[in-house]
Amino acid sequence: MTILPLNTWINSASEPLLIAGPCGAETKEQVLATARELADTGRVSVYRAGIWKPRTRPNAFEGVGEKGLEWLKEVQKMGLKTTVEVANAQHTELALKHGVDILWIGARTTVNPFSVQEIADVLKGVDIPVMVKNPVHADLQLWLGAIERVSNSGITRLAAVHRGFHYFGKTKYRNKPLWEIPIELKTLLPELPIICDPSHISGKRELIQGVAQKALDLGMNGLMIESHINPDKALSDAQQQLTPADLKSLVERLVCRKSTTDNVLFTDKLSQLRNAIDEIDDELLNVLKKRMTIIEQIGLYKKEHDITIFQLDRWQDILKSREQWAARLGLSKAYIDKICMLLHEESIRVQTEVMNKNQVE
Ligand code: PEP
Ligand code: MN
Repeated sequence: MTILPLNTWINSASEPLLIAGPCGAETKEQVLATARELADTGRVSVYRAGIWKPRTRPNAFEGVGEKGLEWLKEVQKMGLKTTVEVANAQHTELALKHGVDILWIGARTTVNPFSVQEIADVLKGVDIPVMVKNPVHADLQLWLGAIERVSNSGITRLAAVHRGFHYFGKTKYRNKPLWEIPIELKTLLPELPIICDPSHISGKRELIQGVAQKALDLGMNGLMIESHINPDKALSDAQQQLTPADLKSLVERLVCRKSTTDNVLFTDKLSQLRNAIDEIDDELLNVLKKRMTIIEQIGLYKKEHDITIFQLDRWQDILKSREQWAARLGLSKAYIDKICMLLHEESIRVQTEVMNKNQVE
């Protein structure tokens, strides 16, 4: 996959790279007033605005459509690039016709390979940057698939946008970040820039700062944040939009960390610490191997005595005791529970293998 660096298609106004603008374009006045204030912050490189809004229920504000694209031409005159969401071939054709600078595919579209392909087909032979938001549900393959479809139509100025995932359990976020998924994407496609959208992760203003900082700390390449001239009156996503002034102070409070440094003292100390981790991991693997050997013996022993593999009491004891031991050491319960689950899962798998061995003879 050919992917060009982000700085070949967005000149970052300042650090971090910032895409900002309203959830939706509502009126010409709102679009231009918001853009004016955002441009004046000197922090924003790209102006976002939804022209067609995917809404969960009908009769909600569904965007102003094509006329909004005319307003964005005025925004370009303020020195901002523009980006809009496209969800089908017709949106894509209209956005191209009206000279939008960058396209993005929304979370509800990424889930549907037919829609993504329809957009990708329109993009064949067109040279425009495209950002692909993660699908609503936590499926990395679907995200990758959408990126591949766009890439296959010849688009090389590509980025992913991390906007969090729908989550059934309890969470303070509108969409749970599940940071491990964009990290996995980065591992698979190291040259693909990833921009974080803390607005749709947070769902409410108060959480945006922390999410944005975390994204930068993980080395993400930029932020997309919703901003509206009068957030409380916004026709969509009112609770998560910031005034341009609030956005400016949020950005000023962010700490941009570098991924490397020439400071020799720092790199020496870091490599010492990393060596220590390597040694510990080596020990850890040896201990895991030792544990596994005993698991195999237990499996065999249960087999000889026709005893079931899964023993509820023992499993409950393990969880409880390990949680207590962990608490004494100051390790988090959630962390130790996860590790115990993994150990138990693998133990069941190995004992099942032992049980089934030579079963047919
Ligand atoms: C948006 O950016 O306003 C939007 C609809 O986002 P998402 O596709 O992430 O839900
Ligand atoms: Mn929105």
